[in-house]
Amino acid sequence: MQILVINCGSSSLKASLYKTDKGVCTKLIDAHLKGVNDPSTGLAGIFESFAKAGFSFEPSLRVGHRFVHGGDKYRSSILLNAEVIKELEKLSWLAPLHNDICLAGIKTCIDYFGEAVPQIAVFDTAFHRTMPPIASNYALPRDITAKYPIQHYGFHGISHAYLAQTYAKHVGQNEQTKIITLHLGNGCSMAAIRGGKSMDTSMGFTPAEGLIMSTRAGDIDAAIVEFLCVQEKKTPVEIMQILNSRSGLLGVSGISPDMKVLLDSKDDHARLAVDMFCYRAVKYLGGYIAALGGVEALIFSAGIGENSPEIRCDIARRMEWFGIKMDDHANSQAKGLPPGAIRKISQPDSTAALYVIATDENAFIAQEVELL
Ligand code: ADP
Repeated sequence: MQILVINCGSSSLKASLYKTDKGVCTKLIDAHLKGVNDPSTGLAGIFESFAKAGFSFEPSLRVGHRFVHGGDKYRSSILLNAEVIKELEKLSWLAPLHNDICLAGIKTCIDYFGEAVPQIAVFDTAFHRTMPPIASNYALPRDITAKYPIQHYGFHGISHAYLAQTYAKHVGQNEQTKIITLHLGNGCSMAAIRGGKSMDTSMGFTPAEGLIMSTRAGDIDAAIVEFLCVQEKKTPVEIMQILNSRSGLLGVSGISPDMKVLLDSKDDHARLAVDMFCYRAVKYLGGYIAALGGVEALIFSAGIGENSPEIRCDIARRMEWFGIKMDDHANSQAKGLPPGAIRKISQPDSTAALYVIATDENAFIAQEVELL
């Protein structure tokens, strides 16, 4: 079987082509376009580049799409048909920016390949649907929560699921295995996982909640939204734009949303942004260790988690009270790993092991497509 994975983001487009044979999935080629606004032109260009490189689509082709928000309804990957697409369109209001782009990618592929090629949606929210009500509910009035599906959905689920699966494959797992995964990229989230199931996660109703991110504030007192609306004479939509696009590392530093730039800077505000980033992460770690009743491993991943020994070291140092002991040499060596690679970066007597795993969302989507 040939599997094409499409990942349409708000400003980038990624596609990977895989071949599976007797359970072994091999990547043939991939492409990454940045600054794309229109998935149809972007995807056409990518398909052309695949053809130029000598890869043609075979009749066995299936297409897997990363779909950001599956709402309350979609708890696992699903084969798309006209009816499901109509249902997904109804979810657009939950994540207009992200879901509409995913839908445009799906429609482009249906037009390009025809109805006969199966198209599968793999949801970023699905992994977190195992969260218990104590974690997934907001403490809002029942009449409101009965009327609207307001709850913690959580995102980056494809990555967190991949990290948990990779850990289980290399280290082992039973129903009581407690791990915490830290997906630290431009968007950042953490997941508390028991026995391979998500028990809690830091993003919520939208990806705005939780950790400090490149341009998102993460957790914030909701009263600040009203305060700024009144003081700045702005609409709630405009305030949300500030919280999503001008806050976080960029907002605090006033320099850059990019962690690498801030780590290289001598500016006091850049240092404060980095310190706040690590401090917030440690507060969540402490909370999740308590929520899980212990932890056997912390797993760092994504752009910052995979490439910054400094940030991993800073977080680990703030966890020394718990008995976390980093292996400084292993930590300094673990960067730029190929997708799927796993490295242990803690000392043998650390209370919880520390790992770096290079996440591979497209490989996880391909696996979901193969299994469906
Ligand atoms: P996205 O969430 O858009 O997929 P990435 O996972 O690629 O983003 O993460 C981007 C972040 O990773 C940026 O803040 C970038 O500075 C950071 N990053 C990449 N390499 C390094 C590095 N060597 N040191 C510190 N931060 C890094």
